[in-house]
Amino acid sequence: MCPRSTAGSSRDLGLSTRSVHGGLPPPVPGEGVVPPLVQSATYFWGSPDDPGELRYSRYGNNPNQTIVAEKVAALEGTEAALVLGSGMGATAMTILALTRSGDHVVASRHLYGATKALLETELPRRGVSTTFVDPDDPGSWREASRARTRLLFLEIPTNPTLRVFDPAPVAELAREKGLVFAVDATFASPVNLRMAEHGADAVIQSATKYLGGHSDLVAGTVAGSRDLIEEIREMMKLYGPALDPHAAWLLERGIRTLPLRVGRQNETALNLARWLETRDEVERVLHPGLESHPDHGVAARLLDGPGGMLSLILEGGGEAADRFQGGLELAMVAPSLGGVETLISQPRYTSHAHVPAEERRALGIPDGFVRVSVGVEDLDDLRDDFARAFEGARRTAA
Ligand code: PLP
Repeated sequence: MCPRSTAGSSRDLGLSTRSVHGGLPPPVPGEGVVPPLVQSATYFWGSPDDPGELRYSRYGNNPNQTIVAEKVAALEGTEAALVLGSGMGATAMTILALTRSGDHVVASRHLYGATKALLETELPRRGVSTTFVDPDDPGSWREASRARTRLLFLEIPTNPTLRVFDPAPVAELAREKGLVFAVDATFASPVNLRMAEHGADAVIQSATKYLGGHSDLVAGTVAGSRDLIEEIREMMKLYGPALDPHAAWLLERGIRTLPLRVGRQNETALNLARWLETRDEVERVLHPGLESHPDHGVAARLLDGPGGMLSLILEGGGEAADRFQGGLELAMVAPSLGGVETLISQPRYTSHAHVPAEERRALGIPDGFVRVSVGVEDLDDLRDDFARAFEGARRTAA
């Protein structure tokens, strides 16, 4: 590894320093401080029969892909990482690399909708079955594991209820039985949680969210040991979900400000959550930094910051939520998360649209549930926007 990227990867350096310098090549006098975008699918060979290191952008070894992968490994604290064309690409290639027909997965029942669908409906077509467990019962992982279990899959914090389950019992079971422990830690980002420090073998991020941070690209990352990453790369080479070099270049630029953005989002979300708890229009506020959150204790131990996501359950149900959203002027109604702009959505119209209302309620997502991805705007402006929307909603209802 080159000196600058070695320096940027060092565990002795802080996360902000690694975000800026990690993965970058050593300085060369006269060359750009910012790495050039190498928008090329293929690369010259040294001679007719010798490619040197065989490069091809579908293999994930274009210079821009390599730089950002090394930066992510430096942040996650792992030997290696791979960037892919989306968060789902990272999840799917990881699961496909680790399972064969006849194998079994144990997964949390609190999963991003597409991850759940992949495990529930797509992987059985390839002979891979999944048992979904309730992580509130830590013993359920052990009870569900079988002779052919290969993989334990957890997502923390969860979407949209922001549960932070203790990963320790899952990591312990994985060590004891030689299983792979994969975690989707998208909602935390490596600023708030580096799951490799807590026993995860594969750490997945939808880089579309906090890593990219500007809602302008779709990407995914997986970090782990060099051997594991090479196995996942082999799957990526076969199925093809590599990240385009331009998106890799943008992603690397986005990550440079990740700790700044997430630090600000942690602070604004917690302050907004505390203020929302005082509002009559709000039945309940969910944010891991609030003492009222069911996992506040685990979150305080595990996370370096409480996160920029919060959820609200409004008095008056779905109609009140529609009216509130309709009155917002600054916060924008859109799915996705982790960008610099505040985005608001209702899971009943997005991630949980296919889930019957009764089942949604049982999952803690009644009508009136609103998810907020807090951006980097000024807290006072967000508070004013929310207050105006609440008042407008009240007038319309009257
Ligand atoms: N994991 C989580 C927790 C998500 O919220 C999402 C998307 O919302 C994904 C994975 C999938 O990411 P992508 O849209 O980049 O494929």
